[in-house]
Amino acid sequence: MSRFTLPRDIYHGSGSLENLKNLSGTKAMVVVGGGSMKRFGFLDRVTDYLNEAGMEVALFEGVEPDPSVETVKRGAKAMLEFEPDWIVSIGGGSPIDAAKAMWALYEYPEVSFEDLITPFSFPTLRKKAKFCAIPSTSGTATEVTAFAVITDYQKGIKYPLADFNITPDVAIVDPDLALTMPKKLTAHTGMDALTHAIEAFVGTIHSNYTDPLAMAAIEMVDKHLVASYEGDEKARRQMHDAQCLAGMAFSNALLGIVHSMAHKTGAAYSGGHIVHGCANAMYLPNVIRFNAENDEAAERYALIAQRLGLDGKTTDELVDALIDRINELNARLGIPSCIQDYEGGIIDEYEFMEKLPEVAKNAIADACTATNPRIPTQAEMEELLRVCYYG
Ligand code: FE
Repeated sequence: MSRFTLPRDIYHGSGSLENLKNLSGTKAMVVVGGGSMKRFGFLDRVTDYLNEAGMEVALFEGVEPDPSVETVKRGAKAMLEFEPDWIVSIGGGSPIDAAKAMWALYEYPEVSFEDLITPFSFPTLRKKAKFCAIPSTSGTATEVTAFAVITDYQKGIKYPLADFNITPDVAIVDPDLALTMPKKLTAHTGMDALTHAIEAFVGTIHSNYTDPLAMAAIEMVDKHLVASYEGDEKARRQMHDAQCLAGMAFSNALLGIVHSMAHKTGAAYSGGHIVHGCANAMYLPNVIRFNAENDEAAERYALIAQRLGLDGKTTDELVDALIDRINELNARLGIPSCIQDYEGGIIDEYEFMEKLPEVAKNAIADACTATNPRIPTQAEMEELLRVCYYG
């Protein structure tokens, strides 16, 4: 028995932001990040549309990239004071993810953040507010998913919160917002979307409902990401849809160990964060190699390679062709092939190796590991991470 859950309404296409006018409610709290949405005028438009809908609007601004537990608690407090019946989050994955966690703590102030970490254990939401998400980047698809990633900086761990209660009510996928993305962000978020689609397609709970969405997303990313990165506006718009389709797939088919590894290496080192999408891009080829030892997974990767029109007769050849294709994409997007080369070598080799057993243990314990086609042992995960470091 399986469940397939999406937002009630997904508005998409250029100008769809305007649909905010049609929300019905009395008070909206708008959760937003660092300022690009304000600078480009989108935040003002959001406020205007919500006012037009007859709502009083309060802003919660300044959600940082990789939002912290503290930010989530501050936002929940602001919501308890303002008492919104709509939470509207706009921006990259970070403000939307943070708003989802704030939402849960707003509805249940007595619940602690720690209570939310266990997957699919949320209390029933929507007693106080509904949730609308408006993405400005083309990658996380958090506007349609049951996930939010929140970082505990004390522990240096990213927690993927997971529950269908936090699948938004309304998603507005307006490609005009994505036109503002800088080049590097376009590359990283695009590879995040590709990883979502591939992990959803190959994972153990993929289904007839998720497969077509995942495959369509893979084809679209393969076709449009490089052009989008190079500034082609049409391609940029296509990528905004592609990442959303990938999101619909992975929200219901879940992910795999590329994400487990990205979550647990992301904030673990003193040299700096490894940006989520870039981590996925670097780890994906190595994980495909590892997972393809499982025959069923290998067949699934081969299907993807065939659909992309890659050369190869046998399953092994097709898996190799897919790995080559991803390496080629990474190269064209300026993404390094290994952690050692990340941002000019900010992740220290000694620290990486010293923390390897702990990071490997945490990665295995990550919620995304359960649906990976092959469950790695401690030794296998350490070896995988070592390969990701040295290439
Ligand atoms: Fe991701």
